[in-house]
Formats: sequence, C-alpha cells, structure tokens
Amino acid sequence: MKYDYLVVGAGLYGAIFAREAVNKGKRVLVIDKRPQIAGNVYTEKIEGIHVHKYGAHIFHTNNKKVWDYITQYAEFNRFTNSPVANYHGELYSLPFNMYTFNKMWGVVTPEEAKERIEKQKREAGITEPKNLEEQAISLVGTDIYEKLIKGYTQKQWGRPCDQLPAFIIKRLPVRLTFDNNYFNALYQGIPIGGYTKMVENILDGIEVRLSEDFLEDREKFCGLADKIVYTGPIDAYFNYRLGTLEYRSVRFENEVLDKPNFQGNAAVNYTDTETPWTRIIEHKWFEFGRDSEGNELPKTVISREYSSEWKPGDEPYYPVNDEKNGALYESYRELAEKEKNVIFGGRLGEYKYYDMDQVIDAVLSRTEKELV
Ligand code: UDP
Repeated sequence: MKYDYLVVGAGLYGAIFAREAVNKGKRVLVIDKRPQIAGNVYTEKIEGIHVHKYGAHIFHTNNKKVWDYITQYAEFNRFTNSPVANYHGELYSLPFNMYTFNKMWGVVTPEEAKERIEKQKREAGITEPKNLEEQAISLVGTDIYEKLIKGYTQKQWGRPCDQLPAFIIKRLPVRLTFDNNYFNALYQGIPIGGYTKMVENILDGIEVRLSEDFLEDREKFCGLADKIVYTGPIDAYFNYRLGTLEYRSVRFENEVLDKPNFQGNAAVNYTDTETPWTRIIEHKWFEFGRDSEGNELPKTVISREYSSEWKPGDEPYYPVNDEKNGALYESYRELAEKEKNVIFGGRLGEYKYYDMDQVIDAVLSRTEKELV
C-alpha cells in the first residue's frame, strides 16, 4: 500500500487527523470531492471580506486543550457573537438576557424577569419538558417562545417544536444579567485571515487531491491505503442500505451591496414564520468591517439563509437528531464498527450536531488512541 491512511474529506476532522498522522510519521493522502479544502468552514475572500461560504462559523470553546491546539494554526480575533432577533421589525437581544426581557416586558430587575418567566411556565403547566416546545417555555416562558423561538425553529428544522428534541434549545443560554455574549465560552473568535487559511496551515506539506469523490470509485481509493478515515455521511458510505438519515440543508443567497453597512451586526435572526429566510449574515462584522490592513471596507457581503429538507444531491448541514434518526444512526454505527479498517468521524460521519471545538476534541481523542 502506498499510504497508511486515506482521509476522505478535508474539513476540520479530516485535516486534523491527517496532521496528527503525518506528525507521527504516517504516510497520508487526503481527498475531497469539492474543488477546495476546509469542508463547511471554508471561507472565500470577496471585496476584501472573508465570506463563510457554507454558513457562519464562530469558534468558541471552554476546552483549553482544544484552544491551545487550534491556535497553533491561526491567530484569532476578539469577535464575540451577539446576534439580534428581528420579529416583524421588533429587535431583541440574543441570547435571552436582561436586554431581551426588558424589551419584551418592560421589566427592569432580574427578579421581575424571573417572576415573569416562572408565571408563564406555571400557566403552561410544564413540569418535565418532553420536547423542544416544552423545554423552551420552561426556560423563558410563552412570550419569548412565541416571538423568538417558535417561528425560527420551525423554519430551521422544518418540524413543529413539539416534535423536536429538547437538547437543541439547551444550546442557547438564558441569563438574568445584561450579558449578550451568545456563548458561555472562555475562548472565542474568528481566525484572522479566514478559516481556509487556518485549514491550509493544518494541511501544510500534506498531499491533498481535490475534486475526488471517494464514493464514486471506492475500489481505486481503498487500494491506496491500509486504513480509511471517512468524514462523509455515514448512510451514504453504506449506500443507504438501512434507509436514509435525515439532514437539514441550507441554501445561501449571497449578495454584494454597494454600501458600507447593511444591518450593523454579523447575524440577524428572522424569528417570525412569514419571512422565508432564517437569518442574514453580514460577513464583514466578523472582522469589525475592516480589511487586513485595518482599512474600513466600502462594500458589504450578505447571505440570506434558507433552510430546507435535505434530498440526494443537496449538501447535508445539520443532522436531525430526533428519536427516529437516532435509532437509524445506531444501526449504521453497528455496521460501522464491523468495518475494522475504517474510522468514521465528524458531523456527518458520526451524525452529530457537533460544534467545531467538539470536532477537534473528538479527532484528538481518536488520534491519541489510533496513532502510536
Ligand atoms: N433558536 C431560536 N431562535 C433564535 C436562535 C436559535 O429559536 O433566534 C433555536 C433554534 O431551535 C435553533 C437552536 O436554537 O435550532 C440552536 O441555535 P444555534 O444558533 O445554536 O444554531 P446554529 O448556529 O448551529 O445554526
């Protein structure tokens, strides 16, 4: 065999696996079916702005090991995520915090806010939340659920909130303070120079072949290496033989605007049901509206995000981690365990709603066991 490892997919999981393997003296080939590296964290420079082509990625973690690892490959800026919710033109601060509660109810103190939430929760009669709707109401009450969660979530997932798992909403903090930092993370930022550059640094000196589709010619690729690291969709690897896992896909409508400021923030979520997009990203604000020399940029690039049910041929973005799909994934995982020479990893390979730091943590744990 020419290689010890064939890594399928040049996203975060694949790139880091390859880096660690090469550092241990292994012979590695990375392939990707796209014409570029970096998977869904790929950024492309347009009008001097690093545009997140497959959706906004804001790096955040509480894991010092992960932070120390990734900062070897990029310096991060001080961006702090603080999205704004737009509900029929009313603007609210996210995540749910005292600014949100003040705007929603006119309450001034944390005690008053807490009382409101408790009262609404009591009236809804929820003791043990069984789904996203009940979880949301018991966290923030019915008003916030109706205006800031219900419409957004139904657009995002294409399913009613009472048919979605509660854990999705637990990603969002609820605070009785005036802190509108979206994440409870010790470390946060955007890699200076873009994510593509960061992944390029991780892959420095490693053989990468682009526009190569593993699933189109398995025999050829499997003949190249002793082991495979597969980061594509697990059900596609098995030719969907047990059925298809459900994913959500996203369509991005990108626009260059001849004005310096469209919405004054990186992310504005449209939380009503009528607006067809879920959110608009204005990419320049991830870098404070300036180019690498610190000059203000005259134009702006925005992306409207439209969420849709994945169908063959679309890009899969979000695994739908409900019970039905969880059970199907479990069956695929059992099949995967029998593939002794294949490692399945990443958001698609493990069918998990991973954040970037969780992917890094997962791949580092794996390489520690795998590479001796
Ligand atoms: N969410 C919401 N309203 C918002 C933002 C998020 O109801 O304005 C809910 C929605 O169900 C979403 C979940 O919180 O799927 C997680 O949001 P997050 O921003 O973490 O999603 P991502 O950035 O990964 O798309």
